[in-house]
Amino acid sequence: MRYSQTLIPTVKEVPADAEIISHQLMLRAGLMRKLASGTYIYLPAGQRMLDKVTRIVREEMNRTGAQEITMPVVQPLELWQKTGRDVDYGETLGQFTDRHGRGNVLSPTAEEGFTFLAANEIKSYKQLPMNLYQINTKYRDEFRPRFGVLRSREFIMKDAYSFHVDEESLHETYMDMYNAYCRVFERCGVEYVIVLAESGEMGGSGSHQFTVPCANGEDVIVYTDDDKEAWNIEKAPVDPLAKQDAVEAGPIEEVHTPRAGKVEDVCAFLKLEPGQLIKTLIHTCGDETVAVLVRGDHEANPEKLTRLLDGAHHDMADEATVVKLTGAAVGFAGPVGLCDKVDRIYVDHAVAAMAVGTAGANKTDYHITNVVPGRDFPLEGDKVQVVDIRNAVDGDTYEGKTLLFKRGIEVGQVFKLGDKYSKKLGANCLGEDGKPRDLLMGCYGIGINRIIASAVENGHDDNGMILPISIAPWEVIVTPAGKEYEIVEAAEKIYQQLLDAGVEVIIDDRNARGGVKFKDADLLGIPIRVTIGKKSLAEGQVEFKLRSEPDRSTLPIDTAAKQVAEMVRDMKAKLERPKE
Ligand code: ATP
Ligand code: MG
Repeated sequence: MRYSQTLIPTVKEVPADAEIISHQLMLRAGLMRKLASGTYIYLPAGQRMLDKVTRIVREEMNRTGAQEITMPVVQPLELWQKTGRDVDYGETLGQFTDRHGRGNVLSPTAEEGFTFLAANEIKSYKQLPMNLYQINTKYRDEFRPRFGVLRSREFIMKDAYSFHVDEESLHETYMDMYNAYCRVFERCGVEYVIVLAESGEMGGSGSHQFTVPCANGEDVIVYTDDDKEAWNIEKAPVDPLAKQDAVEAGPIEEVHTPRAGKVEDVCAFLKLEPGQLIKTLIHTCGDETVAVLVRGDHEANPEKLTRLLDGAHHDMADEATVVKLTGAAVGFAGPVGLCDKVDRIYVDHAVAAMAVGTAGANKTDYHITNVVPGRDFPLEGDKVQVVDIRNAVDGDTYEGKTLLFKRGIEVGQVFKLGDKYSKKLGANCLGEDGKPRDLLMGCYGIGINRIIASAVENGHDDNGMILPISIAPWEVIVTPAGKEYEIVEAAEKIYQQLLDAGVEVIIDDRNARGGVKFKDADLLGIPIRVTIGKKSLAEGQVEFKLRSEPDRSTLPIDTAAKQVAEMVRDMKAKLERPKE
């Protein structure tokens, strides 16, 4: 490739609306340009990176025996209504009505489509297990697209769906995919942590997430101090807190807290710490109402609630429902007398451990103090359960081990779905005994664009990206530093030799100063730079530099191409080696 003939519009300035380094550098290095909020045009260098990541993913999927297909991006809304996921995805689901008045969705994932296919094509256990995948555009109308391609509206996902007759077979494929994911991330040269995850709205019984640790990540990884177990924040379990020493608490007292419905306002008004408050959060789940009680300094965990509700979809109750149930404006709901008002109450362990607290009075602009859990509201009974329903925080333990936290980017996730989709869409087959049974399913996603962004998050310096050789747009850049005939001729010769040796090489043949070329090569993160300069050339040498190391060295011009090609091979082999 000749630099002068491609489109790599590098820029010096940090783009104003790019908050994090990967977003900044992917724009500055000319990998991509924004088309609209959350949608990006991939330019030639970015496209090469996409192609390389895609190739690695495809190779590893094929190695497991998975078969590639292509599903339409536009899918009938009807299919999504059958599984109820038109509601679960809510406004994130892109939809439009076609000229015939039919509802369509822009696929944010494709369980429905693949299960539809299986329902029609799989008849017998003899066809199983079957694992199908696609590498295709996904659309999610994210509430807040941000961080460039890390959270965009349109992105490329590899999504695979496997079908089985029994749990054992599902587990086997699940583990094959788990191992294939490890190889994908190793070959892409990104560091990753595997965490246990909640299967959430996907339904199903088990899930792992592959997360790249990174300060800018949106996900929180929770792990034990012996590093033996890790979860995402939605899944991380916490030990119940020790019961606080009992205090002499007088009877409940009502206090006037005008307009103080939020934790910080109540605390400021009553001079309390958030940990002394009991928050009462009202949810709806189908026709039922569910209250969740957590301490004022804790956050309720929606995924833990989903699990308690056996995977059922739930929402925070709207204002009208809260007012109707509690008789008070939002912000003043409380646990006393709540059993008569809602269908279920989940009390977080930490609330049950409080000796005394302050809570909403179920009366607008009022709170109550001297609230003693167990005395003033029940901690057991038909409707009430004390549970783990909050996010872990600093100081929490699990099975006595201290929990630690770090941030990360979710790049992939594997799920055991069970029969959630096959039941709803009629995907069954005849078992060995001749009786029909619902197919068991697994699903497995990888964000292709996120892999690139996370590689940049973890590989950069002040001068630009430092990319793993397996996904860099080019492996080597040949830089003639000067316009003299001998320099250009020597550079062209090495370029040709590298091409002949099968190296992915670009020659910076632009009519620009050496300094400009070096800056762009650094920004692009090309792993190896070979520079042909006047001084070294006079000595029969060319300059060699690794992007990841500060030092430069020289190579004899006659053997330079061969040596560089060998080095490229070695660097690639280090990443290519499959996991044992
Ligand atoms: P998140 O929790 O970050 O919204 P998710 O768990 O909803 O992601 P999945 O449904 O598991 O995502 O999708 C599989 C993969 O697709 C994710 O692991 C991620 O790499 C990628 N992905 C999901 N949403 C986006 C997005 N908005 N932009 C880019 N990649 C995405
Ligand atoms: Mg996920």
